[in-house]
Amino acid sequence: MNTSEKKCTDCGGTSFVQASDFINLRPLDKKMALGSERVFTVCLDSGEVVSIKVKNPEKLL
Ligand SMILES: [Zn+2]
Repeated sequence: MNTSEKKCTDCGGTSFVQASDFINLRPLDKKMALGSERVFTVCLDSGEVVSIKVKNPEKLL
């Protein structure tokens, strides 16, 4: 995972960790769908969440 070009909008830090709350994001019109985990990129200095990504976006179709 390449996060080296990222910069924290809060403190300007460039050290990040990726984490997930293991709660799946599901499509609005398919409540029974399994959905996909969200992955948060968190600044190690300030705790700012700089990005939230869906691990498997195709599962939201
Ligand atoms: Zn920061």
